[in-house]
Amino acid sequence: MQNNFLTLQIQEMDKIIDKKESKALLKMLEESERVVLTCHVRPDGDAIGSTLGLYHLLKSMGKEATVIVPDKAPQNLSFLPGFKEIAVFTSHKDFCEKTVEKANLIICCDFNIPSRQDDLAPLIQNANCRKVLIDHHTEPEKFTDLIFSFPRMSSTCELVFRIIASMGLYDKVDKDCATCLLTGIITDTRNFTVNINYPDIYDILMRLLKKGVDKDRIIKEALNTRTLSSLKLEAYALSNKMEIFPEHKCALITLTKEELKKYSYEKGDTEGLVNRPLEVRGMVYSIFMREDPDCIKVSTRSCNDFPVSEICKKLYNGGGHIQAAGGEFHGTLEECREIFLSNINKFDKYLK
Ligand code: 5GP
Ligand code: MN
Repeated sequence: MQNNFLTLQIQEMDKIIDKKESKALLKMLEESERVVLTCHVRPDGDAIGSTLGLYHLLKSMGKEATVIVPDKAPQNLSFLPGFKEIAVFTSHKDFCEKTVEKANLIICCDFNIPSRQDDLAPLIQNANCRKVLIDHHTEPEKFTDLIFSFPRMSSTCELVFRIIASMGLYDKVDKDCATCLLTGIITDTRNFTVNINYPDIYDILMRLLKKGVDKDRIIKEALNTRTLSSLKLEAYALSNKMEIFPEHKCALITLTKEELKKYSYEKGDTEGLVNRPLEVRGMVYSIFMREDPDCIKVSTRSCNDFPVSEICKKLYNGGGHIQAAGGEFHGTLEECREIFLSNINKFDKYLK
């Protein structure tokens, strides 16, 4: 009885996804023996969650699946089932090239333009097989045979779940798949606080929990566990490196490579930092600039629908979502900061 009820509701959920397109994807999956799942550089919980979620689905369908990421995923996602199986392009180029060469299908998750894959982009773009994009960023480029693009969705993981439901494969979702998908929803919504205000997302959460997922463990591992030095780095950044511009309702944090080194910085250590200034009453947006080895990484967050994606697009060749966006700057950290400060007035028009 209960199962019938679930099946009925799942069919309701399908309405968002075009049935013709999910059927086309199902056909592609059925026709493919070897599938590659890939995502953007500096992968986050949604990128890893969506690729690994599909990996587990494909395994349960008896397929040979491989997740290939442009560079290493952060340690806080290592609890995810299948994490050890992920192939990292920067460290296993040959293996990645051979796997892509043999693939019948490539599914690109959580990015909208090839350049978001950095040095992995040419290999994926030149691959001689069918490709599918599953993503929730605005303005996707057309570089795949099939596109599932829903910018209003909380996360790529939510979209993956809806597509799976629409393909009629909900029964193939096991605990491991559900764990990965719920992780992306949790990390991209900052633990159910952002971009998650429509009722049927909670229906999806219910269905994932029914698969036996340990939600509390995901929150603990993916969001609330860190090294002592990363906690101290955050404390240092907030007390010594945060500039507040009250008339612009904005906060800016910069960290040099020397400062990062002093706190034994590792990938993922500054993940939540850019959100912290938004806790200050009246603050509308926050910018964080980090001196990485190859570029200055810019990360932005906002509330009140202030479009930080515009700042990233206009100043840092980037993009993302209205309330969470990023970009890269090639030059010094000081130049990166100056460019923002000399343009800060232009963004006042978005303050409500
Ligand atoms: P984060 O600040 O966590 O790195 O990224 C926030 C959002 O902005 C994510 O949705 C991410 O995909 C997007 N984003 C981050 N960096 C870039 C970038 O360099 N280019 C583009 N187009 N989007 C980015
Ligand atoms: Mn995402």
